[in-house]
Amino acid sequence: MNSVDNLTFNIGIKLLFLYSKFFSMSETIESVKCLIIGSGPAGYTAAIYAARANMNPVLYQGTQPGGQLTTTNEVENFPGYPDGVTGPEMMLELKAQAERFGSDVRDGWITKVDFSDSIHKVWVNDTKEIHCETVIISTGASAKYLGLDSEQKYLKLGGGVSACAVCDGFFYRNQEVVIVGAGDSACEEAHYLSKLCSKVTMLVRRDVFRASKIMAKRVESTDNIEIMFNTETVEVLGDGQVVTGVKVRNNKTQVETEVPATGFFVAIGHKPNTDIFKGFLNLDETGYIINEPGTSRTNIEGVFVSGDAADHVYRQAITAAGTGCMAALDAERYLAAKEG
Ligand code: NDP
Repeated sequence: MNSVDNLTFNIGIKLLFLYSKFFSMSETIESVKCLIIGSGPAGYTAAIYAARANMNPVLYQGTQPGGQLTTTNEVENFPGYPDGVTGPEMMLELKAQAERFGSDVRDGWITKVDFSDSIHKVWVNDTKEIHCETVIISTGASAKYLGLDSEQKYLKLGGGVSACAVCDGFFYRNQEVVIVGAGDSACEEAHYLSKLCSKVTMLVRRDVFRASKIMAKRVESTDNIEIMFNTETVEVLGDGQVVTGVKVRNNKTQVETEVPATGFFVAIGHKPNTDIFKGFLNLDETGYIINEPGTSRTNIEGVFVSGDAADHVYRQAITAAGTGCMAALDAERYLAAKEG
């Protein structure tokens, strides 16, 4: 080959390389108008509204399709279900409603995001790359548990372990329950339970509350709340189906005792599922996404948040659903303003 042929040959090879690279990229990169991350009541409600607004939402369910509600037994406080509904059943209905309007609900775990550009990039299972015009984050928060085998056993059986007094307290009316934790949530939940249950025993691992003075004072002055300081849970006791009591140990004296109870409530905090957004979104000191008050907007244009990922106060299915609706409306308006 002479030098001209050589040059033509090299240019041809380079063009072929760029052409094949372009097509392999466009095969793996998908573009979507509205990507929803998470499949709790916030995510599905966002999907229902986004689909009805012709935004063709794609929703990734994550590793726990249905979110926290799938670990709850009976949901009796969601309006519209006069006879109650199980958590998993309600999530299947929300999913069906989202799909009815054309939401594309997929399995997959979002492992990485890049919100540094106007096109927001998201990776599914570390491989598939998606370019999104809008992103709605509904990744929720996970309740922390002690991690004892006996606790997990009765949690899975739906036999008396719960991380939500407002959701499940009603099932323990006039019964004795135990609650572990010493923060504002534990105090608030202990007080809530004290109005329903005959007795609430509160297990505090140190000799002081972490909660604010006013919240601690409220539980201390409630007659049917007994506070056991310096006390840790050794085992959740049961008959194989339901909880019957809790074995506790005083960590000063090492003396072990048994507290009779039909319900064991864990209120030791929640962890918002927001790790992948660090560095892009403004988070508070515990990792909750900071939204613009009264909206679902985050500090990044086109990225919206709904549900427990931004809410450490209410944490209810109905409030999550409400903010899912807000996020879809905010996303729709954002796109309309951009296009118009
Ligand atoms: P916190 O992190 O404030 O408290 C967690 C509590 O659980 C602490 O007392 C901690 O004990 C205890 N704990 C943690 N791990 C264990 C364990 N393995 N065994 C026993 N106890 C354990 O979480 P909250 O959910 O209570 O509150 C989160 C945030 O939300 C806080 O900022 C709180 O102020 C706020 N909040 C405000 C409310 C309000 O204003 N109405 C209501 C609810 C929450 P220790 O103290 O020994 O570390």
